Amino acid sequence: MASWYGYIGKLLDVDLSTGVITEQELDTGLVEGYMGGKGFGARILYDQLPTGCDPLSPDNILVFATGPLTGTFAPASGRFEVCTKSPATGLWLDANCGGFFGPELKQAGYDGVVGRGKASDPVMLVIEDSSSELRPAPNLWGEDVLRTHQLVKEQLGREFRVTCIGPAGEKGVKYAAIISEYRALGRGGAGAVMGSKNLKAIAVKGTRTISVHDSARFMKTCREAFNELAIHPDTGGGRQKYGTNVILSLMEEVGIHPVRNFQKAMFEGSDRVNEDTIVNLYVRNKACFGCPIYCSKIAEVKDGKHKGSYTEGPEYENVWAFGANCENADLGSIVHAEYLCDYYGLDGISTGGVIAFLMECFEKGVLTESDIGFSLSFGDDESIIKVIHMIGIREGPGELWGEGVKRIAEELDGAQDFAMHVKGLELPAYDPRGSSGMALAYATSDRGGCHLRSWPIGDELHATENRLDQMAVELKPELEKTQQDLFCLINSIGMCLFATFALNLKQITSFLHEVTGIEAFSSSHELMKTGERINNLVRLFNIREGLTRELDTLPKRFFEEALNEGLSKGRVVDLEQLMKEYYSVRGWNPDVVPTGEKLEELAIKE
Ligand code: SF4
Repeated sequence: MASWYGYIGKLLDVDLSTGVITEQELDTGLVEGYMGGKGFGARILYDQLPTGCDPLSPDNILVFATGPLTGTFAPASGRFEVCTKSPATGLWLDANCGGFFGPELKQAGYDGVVGRGKASDPVMLVIEDSSSELRPAPNLWGEDVLRTHQLVKEQLGREFRVTCIGPAGEKGVKYAAIISEYRALGRGGAGAVMGSKNLKAIAVKGTRTISVHDSARFMKTCREAFNELAIHPDTGGGRQKYGTNVILSLMEEVGIHPVRNFQKAMFEGSDRVNEDTIVNLYVRNKACFGCPIYCSKIAEVKDGKHKGSYTEGPEYENVWAFGANCENADLGSIVHAEYLCDYYGLDGISTGGVIAFLMECFEKGVLTESDIGFSLSFGDDESIIKVIHMIGIREGPGELWGEGVKRIAEELDGAQDFAMHVKGLELPAYDPRGSSGMALAYATSDRGGCHLRSWPIGDELHATENRLDQMAVELKPELEKTQQDLFCLINSIGMCLFATFALNLKQITSFLHEVTGIEAFSSSHELMKTGERINNLVRLFNIREGLTRELDTLPKRFFEEALNEGLSKGRVVDLEQLMKEYYSVRGWNPDVVPTGEKLEELAIKE
């Protein structure tokens, strides 16, 4: 048995069909080639998932994985990943989460948990100091996320860290989230996969310490990094005061903040829903494990219809999804909408995207009041709340709405032209008509329309004072590749992506080498190769599951409808050249598959 630093050295394999739980020793090849987190998930799913399986069948596999930094003193290193096949896209899905569950899982004795099969009745997985069991959970099934957390902690003890699904996951909403103590593994429907396995919750508790190879040097590197994070403008100051909403006004200023289901880029209600108004709702700051950035906030509505409603947030993306994208300037309803997403276990971006899409369907007469049961106009805050309730329990038309924008559009004549998704995943809060980087990011993201496989707008805004460069084609494919590979790496080591705003690759390399002592982790160049390896393996997974060149694209609106206001006025996306150069930079063939030479260079075994 190898002894490990940084890692615990074990994965827990849980067959929910048979109830058999086994421990697996970590393999050196897996560790050195794929790091942890997303990398572990990529290798396990590529090797073990039956090709073409139904994402909501017992054949699908759910991998929860930490990284070598998870639970160590490295700053912002409380992260873990879930990886599976997405019911929203039918392709690869990974989602990342902070909080405290990841570190506790390692302290409980495991680097990750692999769930497969399907329990005959609802169960909860309990892991405590290297012992684990599946317990019947009929009392939890049907409960909302907040109550489930409460019941599990009452049953097992408050020290347990909990991850669970709500009614949306149980009912197979294709964008159901897994929630861990108010933090979400949100995008792409991992909650529905967990629900399909009758796995309601995972509770972990442990007392192990995580060994570090070179503690003296590691603590010195940590101290320097903590200082830098505290003073860097992107991780200290504004982000600490405003949370993720720190960029709200900026995104509108630079012409990429979508409004009215991406029909506009200027929001008349923005003075009522901006960082300076939201900050008045914050009652306290909160941070994930070991994080000096504490971008999380607890907000409470002080007056109006939703007085008393509270949430951990509201996050920038949700403020946009239930605000500008639905043309809703009622801040109380936005907080309440985010609360309801936590309550039912829903992804906020997709839920808001579905509602904005339904509002445009209503505006254009594709849906009528008799189809919906009430009117659903842009700006109608009360209807937003009603729709979330209907989706959360799939009531009435909420049954179809729980399928997501792509499938709803397939059912409605005339709705395809404004169905704002990529590969079945609803889009986040950046209009690609104002950023060629974001256009490329959405079109090439491994899990569909997403801003967390890369975030080139950050570099575009930092790199130039002339905003026209946001639309330049030059250097964007290279930037996209570098960011995607870096984000793959970060999502594999257990660190928060926000930390990379201030920390550089050299520091991250020092952390990894000092924590693990693994020689292969001492070279920044090799670490970026590892990120690239993970990215290419996920590409192979997606190709096997049916991804084609045609799906690497954007909604029609971005090619044909120019914005008529704001700094992106008159612009549409021209993707062709960007894609051609991106594939070439990636070393992928004309069918957009990694070439044999590329696989050899990255030492990827198929
Ligand atoms: S930056 Fe925010 S999301 Fe990231 S670990 Fe810190 S508190 Fe959590």
